[in-house]
Amino acid sequence: MTDPSSAIISRFQEYLRINTAQPNPNYYEAADFILSQANTLSLESQTIEFVKNKPLILLKWPGKNPNLPSVLLNSHTDVVPVEFQKWVHDPFGAHIDSDGDIYARGTQDMKSVGMQYLEAIRKLKDSGFEPIRTIYLSYVPDEEIGGRDGAEKLAESDLFEEMNVAFVLDEGLPSPDEKYLAYNGERSPMWLVIKATGAPGHGAKLYDNTAMENLMKSVESIRGFRASQFDMLKAGLKTDGEVISVNLVYLRAGTQTPNGFVMNLQPSEAEAGIDIRVPPTADQKSLERRIAEEWAPASRNMTFEFKQKVPVVDKFGKPALTAADDSNPWWVLLEKAVRDSGVIVRKPEVSFGTTDARYFRQQGVPAIGFSPIANTPLLLHDHNEHLNQREYLKGVDTYASIIKAYASFAEETEANASKAEL
Ligand SMILES: [Zn+2]
Repeated sequence: MTDPSSAIISRFQEYLRINTAQPNPNYYEAADFILSQANTLSLESQTIEFVKNKPLILLKWPGKNPNLPSVLLNSHTDVVPVEFQKWVHDPFGAHIDSDGDIYARGTQDMKSVGMQYLEAIRKLKDSGFEPIRTIYLSYVPDEEIGGRDGAEKLAESDLFEEMNVAFVLDEGLPSPDEKYLAYNGERSPMWLVIKATGAPGHGAKLYDNTAMENLMKSVESIRGFRASQFDMLKAGLKTDGEVISVNLVYLRAGTQTPNGFVMNLQPSEAEAGIDIRVPPTADQKSLERRIAEEWAPASRNMTFEFKQKVPVVDKFGKPALTAADDSNPWWVLLEKAVRDSGVIVRKPEVSFGTTDARYFRQQGVPAIGFSPIANTPLLLHDHNEHLNQREYLKGVDTYASIIKAYASFAEETEANASKAEL
């Protein structure tokens, strides 16, 4: 064990072996592990329970100039559940096969990132580097079930205000080729339920304004909109993250019997559930008008409600999208630091799914989603999630380069661009 990289891999394996799968994550064991790592690195640490039994670990590497706004490196400690029998190796065993692939839940999403941050700091400390700007690391619970009791609570806390965070790094996705991927925004979920009511009647009778007919008119209209968005995606005019996706997820209607449904009765109620995802640059207000006027108009005896509706703008009313050009020094630094480590990072895109980064962007703080994983099949939430140890070690070097660049960056940036303009 004199080879430092084998020690780095062992520590990663140790973290992977802690079963933090939802719905019963072993958060305290993960917390103890992170705290012990922080101790060996002499980082300041605190454990916060915004919600009981859901510890959030906050680590601090103080910069020499405490007046400079800080950088936050975020990761979540929970992972998604596994179907044990579908895995070739124990998902909590962290087995390394002959190709050097490490198998475990969390190798991609995102225990890798959480440990790589620490390993990068270890390398920087060993080299004698001292930060000018303060670096924070947060290990948050519950991302996989929405992050409400984790990152959202942190982002909305007084503590976060005190941390004076100028920029956040959070998770991205593995790249199938040799270039890293990055994300600068996310689509906002709008979970819509539309309901139609109408006079019930005999199944043999033709009459207007039945609940089913009213709902089906809406479904046609929704499908037309869906097709127009899908066409832009198919034609390559927009990416996954740039279209408004609209998918029917359930239909509920009919009068049930023990074996099925009454066949000669037109029901008085019908409803549909729709998962809508709206890019940060889309006009959410006009979509809401469309819903009220075309998809669930009162004139057709329809009502609607949102099970979830996340705004596409931050709390200052600006699109929750992080700039990825010269106007954002954090992006410029990231791009260069990654290049210095021998890899290229692609221009960021709007992410297809959601991560905790949205809670920080919601506060007006720029955030980039980035996981230094290249040459790797996308196996997030899939069976046999794995990561090659070479790729993992390369990612540590990439983070060392990034963290060094961020911690050395001594310019007086505003902690929060939106705040500055207020
Ligand atoms: Zn994740």
